[in-house]
This record gives sequence, structure tokens and C-alpha cells, in this order.
Amino acid sequence: MKISPVEDLFSVINDTAIILQEELSITFLEALAETGENIFQNSILQEDLSELTEKRLKKSYESLQLNSHTAEEIRKSFQLAILKGMKESAQPNHQMTPDAVGLLVGYLVNKFVTKSTYRLFDPAVGTGNLLTTVMNQQLEKEIDGMGIDIDDLLIKLAYVNANLQQHPVELFNQDSLEPLFIELADAVVSDLPVGFYPNDVRANDFQLKSEKGHSYAHHLFIEQSLNYTKPGGYLFFIIPNGLFESEEAPKLHQYLKETAYIQGILQLPLSMFRQQNAAKSILILQKKGEDVKAPKQVLLVNLPSLSNGVQVESILSKIDVWMAENK
Ligand code: SAM
Repeated sequence: MKISPVEDLFSVINDTAIILQEELSITFLEALAETGENIFQNSILQEDLSELTEKRLKKSYESLQLNSHTAEEIRKSFQLAILKGMKESAQPNHQMTPDAVGLLVGYLVNKFVTKSTYRLFDPAVGTGNLLTTVMNQQLEKEIDGMGIDIDDLLIKLAYVNANLQQHPVELFNQDSLEPLFIELADAVVSDLPVGFYPNDVRANDFQLKSEKGHSYAHHLFIEQSLNYTKPGGYLFFIIPNGLFESEEAPKLHQYLKETAYIQGILQLPLSMFRQQNAAKSILILQKKGEDVKAPKQVLLVNLPSLSNGVQVESILSKIDVWMAENK
């Protein structure tokens, strides 16, 4: 049986991570970050490994030819390994953006952001899967990536992920809702963390703070992202379907009216989600600025199941028609 390049890569990453996990008594995800760094640095960086372990690792790494793989192959194999690790540790905030969503967002970024060189920011970068899925689709464009996450293990995985795919990405391990010392972005992609933001004092600095109790983190993330985007820049958010229906929604509407133009809302197929109340959409915004006009019509799409080729084709041509009329 022929083994695909992704399976091939996955098995080296997986085998070496298991060796390090056992030898160092760490979790599989931690071991994944370690082995990824070894592969990138082309050396075994952990000290005090037994001779036998070093030998086994070396043998495995030697079978690897990273340069013969595309960035997408590397991303997919690393993603498979992360998914395996997340299943084992099952932490609620360890969630990776699924491929199908990343591919759609990448398609949209390609359509909307026409600059040949630009800065792409993900303020909830997690493992970097969404950010690098999008970057891998922007052919013949030069992109500087930028990502922040509050979780130190996830940001380590993002760092290794970006390095192995040879993407220039600046990463920061901090709370994205604190003041940021970064250059403004041309575009933002983000699978927003949904829930309450525990820091009421900091939330007070946002227009979208709640009048009573904790504020919605996802609302504050939208405001913060707009704060760090250049005028005219585009933002692509994965949002809960009920975003515009909560008791805080009128304030969000008013805020968006003042700062951005809603370009489109694309509802992801319900079949993609285990529970209907966890279903999501893609919200596309353009930050206001000189010469930036509202679209004649907002692009509203209910995406069909992505396995239905004919329906997907027809939706993609609807998006093309909308682009021709509005952009
Ligand atoms: N797109 C990511 C990926 O492909 O791996 C997954 C994003 S996940 C749905 C949301 C992320 O937001 C989590 O990684 C979580 O750690 C991060 N997060 C939650 N609150 C945060 C905060 N205040 N500042 C920075 N990151 C935060």
C-alpha cells in the first residue's frame, strides 16, 4: 500500500513525540512541540535523554525530508498530530479551527484582500492552524503573519507549526484584550473565543463592555481587532450564529455601524457541528476609512454541506457575482 506524504510525515512526528512523551513524562501535546522544534532545528535539543532514546529519535528524524514537502502537507500532518493530542487531553479551550472552515476563510481572504504584500493578524491564533491554512492559500502574495494567544502550550505549537511551514509569523503569548504593541494589520482572521471575559477592569476600556457583570469576550475581540486594523482593512471572524441576537447585540450593531461596514455573513453548514447551538458563521467586515464605501448589499449566504459539490459550486459563483457587483 502506498503511503501518502501526509501519513509519512505524521508517522515521524507521532512516533518521535511518543518517544519524548514517555522519556520526559510530559503530555503528547507538549512532546509534539518538543519534537517539532527538534525537526526545525535539525538537532535533538532535550538534555539527559538516554543513549538509546537519542538513537531512536535520530533514526526517525533521518528518514524525514522536510524540504520535499509542501507547507500544506506539513500543516496537515502536524494538524493530525495535534488533533490526536487534543483528544487525549480534552481541555475545553484547546480547540483547533477545522480545515473546512480554514479553507473557506482562505478562499474569502483571497477574494477580498488584493494587496500583494500585507500583514495578517490572528488575535486568537491557538495552534496557528487557521492562520497558516489561510496563508497557504494566498499564492504569489507576501504575507507577514502575526498571532497572539493566552495559552502558552498552544502558542508553542503555533510557533513550531509556522516554523516548519517556513512562514514568517510573529507570535506573542499574552491576553489579546490588553493593550498590544504591534503594527496595525491589513487583515484579520480569527476563530473567536466565545464566552465571558473575566477581567472587568480591563473590559471597562472597551465600548462593547457589558453594563452589568462580565462582558462577552467575543464582542471585545471584535472591537480590539478593529482597533489594530488599518482603515479599509478586512476582518474575517468565525462567530456564533446567535451573535446578533443576544441582549448585548444592539450595542454591537451600533458600534459596527460607526466603525465598519458589514460585507457578508456566511452561515456554515449545520452538519459541521455536533450541536446546533454551537453552529457558527463567518462574519466579514471592512474597517471604515477614506474612500471606503458600504457594499450595495450585504453578502448573505447559507453554505451547503461542503460534500455537495454542485451546491458549493453554485454558492461560489454567487460570491463571484456579488464581488463583481460590490468590489
Ligand atoms: N484558530 C485557532 C486554531 O486554528 O488553532 C483556534 C482558536 S480557538 C477557537 C480560540 C483561542 O482563543 C484559544 O486558543 C484560546 O486560548 C484563545 N484565547 C481565549 N481568550 C484569549 C485572550 N483573552 N487572549 C488571547 N487568546 C485568547
